[in-house]
Amino acid sequence: MQNLMANARIVLVNTSHPGNIGGVARAMKNMGVHNLVLVDPQEFPSGKADARSAGAKDVLQNATIVPTLEQAIEGCGLVVGTSARSRHIPWPLQDPRETAAQALAELPKHPVAFVFGREDRGLTNDELHLCNFHVHIPSHEDFSSLNLAAAVQVIVYELRMALLAAEKGDAPAPMWGTEWDEELATSEQMERLFEHMEETLVDIEFFDPKYPRQLLARLRRLFLRARLDRIEHNILRGMFTATQRTLKKLR
Ligand code: SAH
Repeated sequence: MQNLMANARIVLVNTSHPGNIGGVARAMKNMGVHNLVLVDPQEFPSGKADARSAGAKDVLQNATIVPTLEQAIEGCGLVVGTSARSRHIPWPLQDPRETAAQALAELPKHPVAFVFGREDRGLTNDELHLCNFHVHIPSHEDFSSLNLAAAVQVIVYELRMALLAAEKGDAPAPMWGTEWDEELATSEQMERLFEHMEETLVDIEFFDPKYPRQLLARLRRLFLRARLDRIEHNILRGMFTATQRTLKKLR
């Protein structure tokens, strides 16, 4: 069951302090998670990261570096964004224990990403809007933001506790059932779907990019929350293609 964790991906976005990356590597390895993806880190590789990682230098050496978050979550069927504070458009929110139960149920099926933000400003709204749901560590309201490596530690600890419970035949129940006849759409399929949706909504003059309001964010939230499978994804793509084709004929 241990190799389930091969599908767990820790993603750090635009980290400024290499020491924190080392701290994250150590926290991960302690809990049996090895897959680290760095999005545009400000200083990496770094001796400071190696030093803080203690015996987890292998996690750093095997880390993947990519320029965008979209690339970091490629192939994932579930993407969880972490947030130290509440946001303008609320996304479905879980606590770390619920998140671990959900992730553990999905790890046998597809890669699961946990996305962590910058030390000074966390994740942008656009980055948070790439996620299926968000997780908040229920820290004190007056001082809610944890150090990056400490936040990663809490999440991978809960993941390990869920794994150990499952090994004893007592797996925690996930919020969303995972018995499904079709594979879920991957994050990149969802992104192409959103591009196609936007293009079609502009074509039919339902969406005006000059007055975006929150329309696209709300549609994203709807479809990411629904957890589309590949057939549902294909149906929607087909509907948009047919709409655009018919519109062209009419014009
Ligand atoms: N000042 C930033 C906090 C950044 S802390 C902000 O207001 O968003 C760096 C990262 O650690 C966050 O992006 C998040 O990934 C994680 N983190 C810190 N505290 C957290 C909390 N209470 N719950 C979930 N993640 C948290």
